[in-house]
Amino acid sequence: MFIDVRLLHYKERSFTYLVPDTLQSQIKPGILVKVPLQSRIVPAIVHSVTYNKKYNFEIKPIVAIYAFPDDKKYDGFIAKISQYYQVDSINFIKRIQKFLEEKEKPVKTVQLVAENAYNKIVLTDQQQQVYTAIKQSVDLQQHQTHILHGVTGSGKTEVYKKLIEDVLKKQKSIILMLPEVTLAVQFEQLLKNYFSHIPVIGFHSATLVTVKRSLWQLLLDKKTCIIIGVHLPILLPISNLGLIIVDEEHDAGYQEKKHPKIHSRDMAILKASMYQVPIVLGSATPSIQSLWNVTKRNWQLLQLKERFAGSFPKIEIVSLKQKEKRACFWITKQLHMEIQNRLERKEQTIIFLNRRGYSFFVQCLCSYVFTCKQCSVSLTLHADQLLVCHYCNYNQTLPTCCPECHLSQKDFLKKGVGTQQIVSMLQKLFPQAVIARADADTTSKKRSWQQTVQDMLEGDIDILVGTQSIAKGYHFPKVTLVGVLWADLNLHFPMYNAAETTLQQLIQVSGRAGRQSQESKIVVQTFDDHPVYRFIDETKYIQFYQQEVERRTEVGYPPYKHIAEIEIRHKEQIVAETEADIVVERMQSYIEHKKLQVEIFGPVSAVVYKVKGVYAQKIILKSFVRSNMIELFADIKLKQFKSGMFFVIDPVG
Ligand SMILES: [Zn+2]
Ligand SMILES: [Zn+2]
Repeated sequence: MFIDVRLLHYKERSFTYLVPDTLQSQIKPGILVKVPLQSRIVPAIVHSVTYNKKYNFEIKPIVAIYAFPDDKKYDGFIAKISQYYQVDSINFIKRIQKFLEEKEKPVKTVQLVAENAYNKIVLTDQQQQVYTAIKQSVDLQQHQTHILHGVTGSGKTEVYKKLIEDVLKKQKSIILMLPEVTLAVQFEQLLKNYFSHIPVIGFHSATLVTVKRSLWQLLLDKKTCIIIGVHLPILLPISNLGLIIVDEEHDAGYQEKKHPKIHSRDMAILKASMYQVPIVLGSATPSIQSLWNVTKRNWQLLQLKERFAGSFPKIEIVSLKQKEKRACFWITKQLHMEIQNRLERKEQTIIFLNRRGYSFFVQCLCSYVFTCKQCSVSLTLHADQLLVCHYCNYNQTLPTCCPECHLSQKDFLKKGVGTQQIVSMLQKLFPQAVIARADADTTSKKRSWQQTVQDMLEGDIDILVGTQSIAKGYHFPKVTLVGVLWADLNLHFPMYNAAETTLQQLIQVSGRAGRQSQESKIVVQTFDDHPVYRFIDETKYIQFYQQEVERRTEVGYPPYKHIAEIEIRHKEQIVAETEADIVVERMQSYIEHKKLQVEIFGPVSAVVYKVKGVYAQKIILKSFVRSNMIELFADIKLKQFKSGMFFVIDPVG
């Protein structure tokens, strides 16, 4: 047996080695081996396996194989994902073992205080009912998909803990998925305190290499453990898997931002079905897709309709168009007054602004707009007069005069609104308040975000201003006011699920208020009224689902029909455009020939058609049958193109 390998540290070059008979049974593409190279022994990844090939020179044998946990169902599962996303399986197997050869980067993590530590779980009647229903499939170790629709603050975590306890008693392991690393870290701490006798281990980008190694050893030894993460745990070989929990299952954070755009919730569902184990999808705002499957695929819907403590906040919709005089356009009188009250009562406020897709840009009176040289987007103005590209991180200081007409900086128009600007406005309005910010700029620095979460929990922050990251499942007991600065900002975003994601965010961020207090409030500022605001009252969420499904069925969007996206990328615009046309032609004839049921839309330039100097064209596919779209793209992959071809099935935005 011969293998072609790529060296882990010099990826471009490929080498061939011989595998001694004794090691052959353990070899598969994607695993790590040690190979001799000149006078050294270096790590490499197996790319392909060949038999009976004749070489007219000597092939050296590999030295060792890194042990890979034994899991009978693993190869089948990875093959399925690889087929579904049309990506080589090596990509997946490689990702979960890279750490074996990584050096520890020194990182300081913040110890988060976990509430509910050590307390014995006492379930409410509703929690008990939900728990009993799921426990049946846990006890029988039977595959079933349960949707746990629990209103914000209903104590889904308590139900999870009870279920985890039951699974541990069966000597089985658990995967718990969260849509964001900081949330994963918070849960790790919480469960570590509670399950002190069982290893609770994170497996995500913030996990230390030594911790990953200890998890790997547990998997090799088939020991019981609780594994927490965002994407990676799904890709691990776990022979004694007993339960998967996906919390905040509606969250777009489960779809990877880079290609291949794996949706980890969907892969968790696939894994649960292939491993024949139960799966729980928890959310206060279940995705339309998941609720649809209750009727279409017999998933079980369980509901927690009451809050564990506190009560639902009052909702007030306020128009930004009202003409009253105010110190700052973005803080209406109503919101101003409510914040003032909170400061007096020493309660906390969250201010939410989601800027996705629109930014705070600078324009000269001559109409010149500062744009990125490499991307087709305007630059965003940050503090310290810094212009930043949100797509490639290019930055420059705001010039003192316009490069076109040489008008001075003081005549520039600054359009839109950003979190940094809101923080400084609030600081002027409320000089005595402690104000913190949480958005992509701060949350990507994981440590500082963990610190902010901690300060918030300890009551050291009066007002937290943030983008979508603050809407994700955090439990801040002292928050009694949430101000949504610009609710219709993304409602008109050109994506079929804009109303769904907007409503989910509004409910989620509103759910941060009134966790412990009986009196809390949401102020929703908007330019125009919109029918979705009726459903911010989360007890009406299922009504929203029914209405939304009707609308999507009419226009043929998911969940009624499935969609997929093909992205064609090239440095030269003309190449991307020409090849996109060729792709469409080839697909059309393939569809006719094979009698597939797929509709093709496009090609069109992507909304952001140029990123880092690379042009992108998009083609959208729609079909009742996912496998038809996959087959179609598989055929495209057979042809040689100059452009990069990327396939995204079930894109969520
Ligand atoms: Zn750029
Ligand atoms: Zn100008």
